[in-house]
Formats: sequence, structure tokens, C-alpha cells
Amino acid sequence: MPRKGAPGAFREVSASGSHFEIGRSIGKQCRDMALRSEKRFRSWFRSPEFGLEKAVAYARRSMPATRQFYPGYMEELEGYAAGTGIKLDMVYAMSCDLSDRGRGRGCTDIVVNAEWTKDDCVLAAHNEDVSPYNIFDIAIARIRPKDEPGYLGMNYGGIWPTAGMNAAGICLTGNALVPNDTRVGIPKIVPCRKVLAESGIYQALKASMPEGRGHSFNNIVTDSNGEIYSMEGSATAFEALYAENGWLVHTNHYLSPKMWRFEENLHTRFSSIVRYNRATKLFKKELGKVEVSTFKRILSDHVGYPESICRHADPALDEEEQTQSIFSVVFDLTNRAAWVCYGNPCQGELRKYEL
Ligand SMILES: [Zn+2]
Repeated sequence: MPRKGAPGAFREVSASGSHFEIGRSIGKQCRDMALRSEKRFRSWFRSPEFGLEKAVAYARRSMPATRQFYPGYMEELEGYAAGTGIKLDMVYAMSCDLSDRGRGRGCTDIVVNAEWTKDDCVLAAHNEDVSPYNIFDIAIARIRPKDEPGYLGMNYGGIWPTAGMNAAGICLTGNALVPNDTRVGIPKIVPCRKVLAESGIYQALKASMPEGRGHSFNNIVTDSNGEIYSMEGSATAFEALYAENGWLVHTNHYLSPKMWRFEENLHTRFSSIVRYNRATKLFKKELGKVEVSTFKRILSDHVGYPESICRHADPALDEEEQTQSIFSVVFDLTNRAAWVCYGNPCQGELRKYEL
């Protein structure tokens, strides 16, 4: 439930030009968000063994690999540093996967191609399940680099895309995994951004799993032809799960037997298991008549409450450990539109945003 004083809709920001200009402009438009995240980030690294300086120095080690993999995004982060007034090293560290917090977190994703939808559209749906306070960190960003397709992203701080779709019909959704092989390497947010820079499924899949990564999301990559891949990654391995039947569901545990050995601790994945099976069962019944409102219904499901598909903060946990569905999004790749619900989908409404 949106907290008191919440605006009821996400901020919309936009920027175009060079990657640096984009970063600087977004930094100016989202400076308040960036400063709040910085403050929180600083508070996470107060131990004598792993203090802030160590964390920033540790993060910096992967910067050359990130720059080599996707220089455009490094330029966006440099611009963001300039626009927010936060040092680049800090912005970069905030882009990395340093914290152990939120291991019980995770999102639910459902993707379907045109053969099963009412209006022959390819649709990718996602619930974003994180700390309740993260609802204030999201901006809907329209980014138009001069050398790449423009994209609409659900971006943390306006700059870190957690889900998005671009003008070429490439969509990035997905969810967190907890692999046991994390290392110094390209942070998992960087492939998300690079997928949104690509124009074809081959390039997008390649962008989703760079060699030399330090961690990985399960990156769901979909194109407007209805090619749907769930890229189950760890730092050192991955499986490309293809939606053979034209649809797939993913939550926060490895489905591929090949990847089971990278699961850090399956005992922490019960919410994920419940959400996966529940979403699969509910969605099967809808095949052939799927439309945007179908996702609103399924993403609002409360079986397994409070760690259900529509997740609500468990008051028994402390604030940093709580999880809430802070938004739902349904990307219509065929019509290049995004339907976004602010806050829990059981309470809000989907609102349409054009690319
Ligand atoms: Zn709910």
C-alpha cells in the first residue's frame, strides 16, 4: 500500500542526446532519489571489516570490464554523477551488487506470445518485489540516445533499469537469483541496460549474459516476434530457457537442472516456489484469451500471503527485510506500450504509458 504522502504515480523523466548528456539530465531530474539511495548505501557499510571505503574500492575493480562491455552506460553513469553531484566512484558502487540485503526478495514474471493472447499481442508482465521504501526510488524514464533505439524503463533513480522496452521491440524483464559463485565482475544491472540498447534478439541475448560478469539476474529477454528467453544466469554459467510453448513464468529460483548447483540456499526460496507454481497454474487457464487485465488479476493473487505473487510487507520482519510489490508492469511489445500500476496491483490500477 502506498505510504502516506506517496504521489500515487511514478515520476516521469526523459532525456536524449549523448550518453553523458542523458546521464547528466536524468541526474538533475532525479537528484533527490540519488541522494536518498546514497545515504542508504552509506548506512549499509559501517562495519570495521567492510566499511564504505572498502566497498567503493572493491566495486571500482569491475569498472574497466563494465567500460569495455558497454561504454555508453559508463558514460551515462558519469553524466549521472555530474548531474547529481555524487562522485562517480560512489555512483558506480551503488550500481554494484555489494549488499547481502534482500536475499528473500524477488519478483514474479509472466511472458506470452501472440498465439495465446486475445488481440495477438506479445505481452511481458512483471511484479517488482523489493523493500517498501523503494517505491520512492522509481522513475518512468524515456531515454533516447542518439546512437541507439530509445527505451522506456522502470528505472531506479531514473538511471538503473529494472524492466523496460525499446523502440525496436526488445523487452527486458526478469527477477533476482541468489547464485553462490558471485565475484568481481560486470554488475548485474549493466546487462539489463545493454539489452535495451539492442535491436535484435541475437544481440539482446548476447547483451544479457556478458562473460566476465560478477553476478546475474534471471534476465527475461523478449522480442516483438514473440521470441521469449529466460536467461538464468549465475556469475560463471547460464541456461537459456526458451518458451517452447509460447509462454513462460519465472520467479527467484533456478529451474534448469544444469543451474541447480549454483543455488545458494534453496531453503530461502519458498516464496519463490509458491509464486512460480501458483502463477503457472493460474496462467494456464487463461491461454488463448490473455489480455492486459489478465495480468492485473494474476499479479494480484494472495495465495501464500504475505509472500504471495502480490507481496505485502510482513510486519514481523524489520524494515530492511520486508518485501512489497511496489509496482506491476505489463509491456505490450506489439503496440509498444507499457501498463504500470503504482504500488500493490491488488490496490492500484494499470495506467498506460506510450513509448
Ligand atoms: Zn495484494
